[in-house]
Amino acid sequence: MLLETLGFLDGESLILAPGEVAIFSTPGLENLGILKDNRVQSPELLATIRFVRRTNTRQVGTIEIPRGPIGEGKHQFTFKVMPLTRDELVLVLVSDESEAQRVHDVRRDFVANISHELKTPIGALSLLSEAVLGAKDEPESVVNFATRMQSEAKRLTDLVQEIIDLSRVQDSDPLQLPEDVSVGYVIREAIDQCQISAENRNITVTHSEVKPVLVLGSRDQLIMALHNLIENAINYSPENTKVSIATSIDADVVNISVTDQGIGVAQAEQERIFERFYRVDPARSRQTGGTGLGLSIVKHVASKHGGEVTLWSVENVGSTFSLRLPIHSLIMEKSE
Ligand code: ADP
Repeated sequence: MLLETLGFLDGESLILAPGEVAIFSTPGLENLGILKDNRVQSPELLATIRFVRRTNTRQVGTIEIPRGPIGEGKHQFTFKVMPLTRDELVLVLVSDESEAQRVHDVRRDFVANISHELKTPIGALSLLSEAVLGAKDEPESVVNFATRMQSEAKRLTDLVQEIIDLSRVQDSDPLQLPEDVSVGYVIREAIDQCQISAENRNITVTHSEVKPVLVLGSRDQLIMALHNLIENAINYSPENTKVSIATSIDADVVNISVTDQGIGVAQAEQERIFERFYRVDPARSRQTGGTGLGLSIVKHVASKHGGEVTLWSVENVGSTFSLRLPIHSLIMEKSE
């Protein structure tokens, strides 16, 4: 009866007879490296089990087990150890805390990163305002410092806006109140929003014939994601080049690709650029007003819509970022 009940518990469980030999264990314990040949492998856990046996008390604690033979990744588990009334048996319940720990770490890093990112423009503004005061009799210097203050203030505004965008995208589920969204509309809007930056850098943004499909989700989030991809394509390309947007359909998926003739992304960086605040060249990103949040917003939007964002890129040749979204199965637009 006890063993049947244990099978329904969350996590892993183990019953030990005197001598600390397992007489029952769930299969996950061996895979996780906690148990081998019916013996507990973690010295901390073993010490707790012996303590429970001696004192006839219940104990709780945590253990960390390496994820593999190399690297620093560790799995964290909480355990509960309790004596059973029968046959001097001891029951151990183990649950995986790694996921909760990961979410906690991501949150902590995000707050630390935000504070760091905000301090840079705020520090610059403070220094520049001192410089303005010091140069109040030199109109040219005042103009120079004030112009730089304006660009730092803009950077601060953009950063705050992107932090708000990211937290909205993370919190809201576009598929809870979904609408039918025309891919053609999303592309036209996103291109429109990038027109000024494209003109400033003499970059032509073109789009080939747009497939007439609808996807299900949030129109604003999809426009924001595509806008970020096009804006990046413009920012990370030399002047007088082309950015092209194309759509294709592959079974039930629409593929919206943004191709540039820009600086490209080295293979080793291709995964990391989707992380929050990660930039290949922070100086260049700062120059273009980048916040390091654009691609993580795209990644979130894609996954919240049941899709993904992929990258093909060769350094100094160019990049293609593809936003792949499931097509709303029933409705096809009549014309674009
Ligand atoms: P940022 O605000 O810095 O542009 P993103 O999250 O949008 O932040 O992008 C992260 C980094 O990825 C950029 O700093 C840049 O190094 C790289 N990147 C993004 N898009 C492109 C692109 N089209 N071509 C080359 N590098 C790119």
